[in-house]
Amino acid sequence: MKGLERMAVRAASAILLAILFAAAAIPALDSALGQSLGQSGSYPVATDVRLAGDLVETRLVMDLSRKVDLHAFTLANPYRVVVDIPEVVFRLPPKAGESGHGLIKAFRFGLMMEGGSRIVLDLAKPARVQKAFVMDAAAGDPARLVLDLVATDRASFLRQIVLDEKPLTQRMPAAPQPQGTEVNNSDPRPLVVLDPGHGGIDTGTRAPTGELEKDIVLDVAKRLRARIESAGKYRVLMTRSDDTYVPLAERVAVARKANAALFVSIHADSLPHSEGDAQGATVYTLSNKASDAEAAQVAEKENRADVVAGVDLKDEPDDVAGILIDLAQRETKAFSMQFAHKLVADLKGVARLHKEPLKSAGFRVLRAPDVPSVLVELGYVSNRNDLRSLMSDSWRDRTADSIAKAIDAYLSTHVASAPRSTN
Ligand SMILES: [Zn+2]
Repeated sequence: MKGLERMAVRAASAILLAILFAAAAIPALDSALGQSLGQSGSYPVATDVRLAGDLVETRLVMDLSRKVDLHAFTLANPYRVVVDIPEVVFRLPPKAGESGHGLIKAFRFGLMMEGGSRIVLDLAKPARVQKAFVMDAAAGDPARLVLDLVATDRASFLRQIVLDEKPLTQRMPAAPQPQGTEVNNSDPRPLVVLDPGHGGIDTGTRAPTGELEKDIVLDVAKRLRARIESAGKYRVLMTRSDDTYVPLAERVAVARKANAALFVSIHADSLPHSEGDAQGATVYTLSNKASDAEAAQVAEKENRADVVAGVDLKDEPDDVAGILIDLAQRETKAFSMQFAHKLVADLKGVARLHKEPLKSAGFRVLRAPDVPSVLVELGYVSNRNDLRSLMSDSWRDRTADSIAKAIDAYLSTHVASAPRSTN
C-alpha cells in the first residue's frame, strides 16, 4: 500500500512539474524530435561550466543561453546537491564534471524526465547551498546559473535536508506510461516488460571510446521489442523508451502493476583495466547472497543508479523485506532461473558468453516477488571485442533475435501451464 501511495505522490508531483514546465510550451513531439536529432530547438543551451573556491566555499557557474528557474536541494548517503531546472541542452566541454574542485567531487547533468533536466553534484564533505540563482544575460555575457556551497558538519547537513523544500517530491517521474499507451488489460496475451538500464542523467558505464551503456541498451531493447511485437504472441512494455531516467523501484513497480509475465533488464558492463579484461555476456538472477565477488560488485554498481541520478532513497524500503523474498519469491525465483538457463543457451550461439555466464546477486531491479525477472549484461564496453559487437548493427539484431527466442520458449511453456489472472 505504501508503494502505491508513493507512486500516487509521484504521479501528482509529475503532473505538477508538467504544469510548471508547461510555461516553456514545448510540444512533446518537438521534444522527442529535438533529442533524437541532437538539436536544441527552443530549449536553453548550457555552453560552459566552471568551478572555483576551496574546501570551505565552492562556486559553480554554468553559462546558459537564457535564464531558467531552478530548484536546489541536498541529499545524504552519499552527500549530494541536486539542482533541478527545466529541460536544457547540455553542450558542455567533454569531461565536464568528471572531476571536481573544492567541495564538489564530481558532477553529472542530463535529462531527468521530459521537460526537466537535473544537475547532481557529489560532495567531498557536507556542505549547504548558500545561494542558488540564475543571472540574466547582460553586456554580452550569457545568462549564468550560480551555485554557492559552504562547508558544514554532518549534523547541520542532515538538519538542512529536513528543512529543504522539496515541493516536487524529488521531481520523480511517475511510473512511466511507455510509448504513450496504457497497459491494455483486456488483451489476454502475456506481457513482457523490457527494462533498458539507466537513461538521462545516468549514463551507465562508458566505453573508453565514449559510447554509453544507456544508449546501447536502449537500442537493443527497441530491437527486441520490435521482434516480439511483430511475432504477435506477447505484449511488450518498456520501462523507458527514450533518454530519461526511471528510478529502480519504479521499474519494478511498472512490471508488478502491469502483471507482467516476465521482466528483462538489459545492461552492459565495464571493468577497469587494472582489474583485468573480462568479456562476454552474463545473465543474472536475484539472490540475497551473490554467487561470487564479481556478481556482488556488478549488483552494487547497478544499484547505484538512483544515487547517480540524485534520487532520494530515504523513503524507499532498504530492501524488499527479506521474508517476502524468501516466501513469495520461491516460485518466482525458480521461474527466473529457468528463463535464465534458456537465455544463456540461446545466447551461446550468438554472443560471446562470460566464462561463468549464469550468476546471481542482489539487484534492486530484480526484486519483484511475483514477476520472474532477469538482468542481462550484454558484454563489457571495456573489452575491445565486446565493444565491437555491442556497436554492431548485425550483432544487436542477432542478440535481440536470440533473446526473443528465449522469451518465446519460456512463455510458451509457462503461460500455457500457469495462465495469469489478467484475463
Ligand atoms: Zn547498467
